[in-house]
Amino acid sequence: MKIIVSLLVVLFVVAVNGQTGPCANVRTRAAWGARAANPAWLSTQPPTHFVVHHTVTATCTTTAACDATMRSMQNGHMTGNGWADIGYNFCIGNTNIVYEGRGWNRSGAHSPSFNTRSIGFCFIGNFMTVLPPQNVLNTAQAFIICARDWGRLTTTYRLMGHRQDVATACPGDALFNQIRTWPRWS
Ligand SMILES: [Zn+2]
Repeated sequence: MKIIVSLLVVLFVVAVNGQTGPCANVRTRAAWGARAANPAWLSTQPPTHFVVHHTVTATCTTTAACDATMRSMQNGHMTGNGWADIGYNFCIGNTNIVYEGRGWNRSGAHSPSFNTRSIGFCFIGNFMTVLPPQNVLNTAQAFIICARDWGRLTTTYRLMGHRQDVATACPGDALFNQIRTWPRWS
């Protein structure tokens, strides 16, 4: 009986934790009006890397504008680049809402050496000289932690910027300097 009670308590805590935070509140593909994706490889689970990007688009400060940016990027990546889907696994705009891109299980197209074993996460905007708002930075950090706690990222994950894989300014000087101060950046 004691064991059963303990088990129920554990399940309850997991359920409660699992229903809160940015990992549980992503804006779904249906909500932002995504096109149907073509098949993409499944990524290694759990991923070992969390790769940060900026989109070099305008920032968005309303849900309608962020939705439109997501659709525009998806169109560019699918029709322009011929990719299976939007390249990123998740994105965040200045509305402080995390967007579902390819999601948890599918390999992205964002960082060639790491696509199959990472979560590619984009900040919508250009962060060469300015940072996203503090609440957006906080949500992104909380997203990394809940991904780890959900087993969607290894506990020994490596946080990195796109420029650490290929020659690119991404995720922008200001944002790159910021993530270098976060846990597990190397
Ligand atoms: Zn990038």
